[in-house]
Amino acid sequence: MLLLNPGPVTLSQRVRRSLLQPDLCHRESEFFDLQDEARQRIGGVYGLHSDEWASVLLTGSGTAAVESMIAGLVPAGGKLLIVQNGVYGERIAQIAAQYQIPHIIVKHAWMDAPDIGRIEAALHSDKGITHVAVIHHETTTGRLNDLLAIDSLCQAHGVRLLVDAVSSFGAEAIDFSGSIDAVAATANKCLHGVPGIAFVIARRTALASATSRTYYLDVLRHAKLQDQRNTPFTPAVHALYALVEALREHSDEGGWTARHHRYGALAGQVRRGLTALGVRELLPQSMSSVVLRAYALPIGLEYVHLHHALKARGFVIYAGQGDLSKTLFRISTMGALETGDADRLIAAFESTLLK
Ligand SMILES: *Cc1c(COP(=O)(O)O)cnc(C)c1O
Repeated sequence: MLLLNPGPVTLSQRVRRSLLQPDLCHRESEFFDLQDEARQRIGGVYGLHSDEWASVLLTGSGTAAVESMIAGLVPAGGKLLIVQNGVYGERIAQIAAQYQIPHIIVKHAWMDAPDIGRIEAALHSDKGITHVAVIHHETTTGRLNDLLAIDSLCQAHGVRLLVDAVSSFGAEAIDFSGSIDAVAATANKCLHGVPGIAFVIARRTALASATSRTYYLDVLRHAKLQDQRNTPFTPAVHALYALVEALREHSDEGGWTARHHRYGALAGQVRRGLTALGVRELLPQSMSSVVLRAYALPIGLEYVHLHHALKARGFVIYAGQGDLSKTLFRISTMGALETGDADRLIAAFESTLLK
């Protein structure tokens, strides 16, 4: 069975085998060697130095990292502007509300790109805003939001940027040199690890003014202890084995740019195959990530039928969220997938659609 949902992904044999390593106590030096390697390699994906950036590991799914980042890195007295154009932008607004963090939302329809003019106007009219939160790759639609444009805006207005890069980290460009204070991501999407570990990469200057709004997900406490080869709680040890192996594999295969090209080639192959079958991609390529694409559900075809027919042929595709569930389906090209797999997928679509 190949997973074409946006995480967890189809594992490589190398990563799968790495789960079967010796039992390990998280208070032993072997664990801290593993933790150190994971932290160093995570920053290394984008060439970051550990004196300027802290990679903070958390046990949980991607949302744990996003929650830790939002709850910890908007300082007391700060105010957040949330750019929202999909499910994950909405989730950040829910997190901000949960922690009673002052915030405003610049809301867009789910199919729309962030309106830079509206964000600029909001920053201009509310000088209390200290931070902007944005989703890099809005997995709801496959749209890659224009991080550089939002970063420039933040720099011009002297505010800091918090990024949910859960479904782009390791496969799309991220420029850490501007206003980014932190990025949240996970082991089991573009890095090809297993679920259980997520992480925040935080600028050390931002950590210095972090707030402890949450107990378990307190980014500052995790950062401090991990810097001292320590950990506050029992981490997902086996998931960390897999993450370290996945990061080694990511590096051996050529890093994020190689993964970007690999996903891009597979996504292109799927798009060409589906277009030939009359299935339309929803966003222009120039606005899409290489990680996941949304397609219009053919008229008269219910998602469940498509899903079940493809599953019977060995492929798990993904539904649209909310209202979009009636009109689109999604295909991710993350994970250990090859050209031959994409060929077989198109053949499976062909026999499903032409039946
Ligand atoms: C997957 C994802 C998340 C986190 O989802 P979890 O189910 O908690 O792993 C957050 N943001 C984006 C953009 C995602 O794609």
